[in-house]
Amino acid sequence: MKRLDLFKIILVEPQNPINVGNVMRAMKNMGLSKLALVNPADMDLSRTQISAHRTEDLLNHIEIFSTLDEALTGIHESYGFSARKRTQTWASLDMESAVSRSLALAEQDLAIAFVFGREQSGLTNEELARCSCRVHIETSDYTSLNLAQAVLLAAYELLRQARTPGNRVQNATPLENHAPNTRPATQDEMFRLLKTLESALVEIGYYKSPDPNTAIHRVHNLLTRADLHNDEYHLLMGMAKEISNYAALMEKNIPIRKIRPAKSFGED
Ligand code: SAH
Repeated sequence: MKRLDLFKIILVEPQNPINVGNVMRAMKNMGLSKLALVNPADMDLSRTQISAHRTEDLLNHIEIFSTLDEALTGIHESYGFSARKRTQTWASLDMESAVSRSLALAEQDLAIAFVFGREQSGLTNEELARCSCRVHIETSDYTSLNLAQAVLLAAYELLRQARTPGNRVQNATPLENHAPNTRPATQDEMFRLLKTLESALVEIGYYKSPDPNTAIHRVHNLLTRADLHNDEYHLLMGMAKEISNYAALMEKNIPIRKIRPAKSFGED
C-alpha cells in the first residue's frame, strides 16, 4: 500500500461542522487521517460526530491554522481544488493525473496537501496561487460539488490508484499548462534565450567572478525539464532583453518608467 499517511486534507474557512464531519467520514472511508482547518468558522467540533461516526481519531488530531501559508508549512506540493474550469494561466491537472502525480511524489517520501475551499465561495485566486497547481473534478455543466463530495471523490481516486497493482507510477505526471497551438521551443531558440540571459546577467553584475558559467547550464536543465514552449520562450526572451535594456538606461542615467501590475502575483 502506498503512503497515504503523507497526504493532508486542508479545508479553508469551513463554515459548518456537519460538512467537516462529512469530510472526516469520507477521509476515514478512504484511509486518510490528516485533516487541517484554516480559520474555521466558530464551531463546536464535537458536532462533526453527528455525521461522522467512529472518526474520533481524526477529530483528536485535527490541526487548526489561522492562514493557509501556515497550513502548507512542510508540504512539498499542494493541489488547490476548484469548481472553476481550468484556464491556461495556471498549472492545472485533471483529478486522475493529480492523484497519480501526487502518489509518485509520496513514494519519494514527500508530503502532499489537497486544499479545498469554502462551501459558498470556494478558494480565492490568492489562495489558489499559493498552491502548486489547480485541480478540477469533471462534472456536468453544473460544476460545483458539495465540499465533502469533492473530498470523497479525490480520496476515492487516491485509494483506488494506491491499491491498483502494477500501477506503479514511475514518473510524476508533469504539470500541464501549455497554451493551445504552441509547440516546444526549438534547440536554436533555447540557445538564443540562454545566450541573451547570460549577457543580461553580465550587464547587471550577476557574476562575481569569471569562473565558467554553470548557472546557465542549470537554467538550461530546468527549462528542458519544464518542456519550454515557444510562447514561453518569447516571454522569457522579452524579460532577458528588458534586463539588458535596463542596465543600458541606468548607465546613461535615463529615468526608467516603472509600471506595477494592477494586481500583483497572488493578489485577488
Ligand atoms: N461555489 C463554489 C464551490 C464551493 S464547493 C465555487 O464556485 O467555487 C467547496 C469546495 O469543493 C471548492 O472550494 C472546491 O475545493 C471543491 N469543489 C467543488 N466542486 C469541485 C470541482 N468540480 N472540482 C474540484 N473541486 C471542487
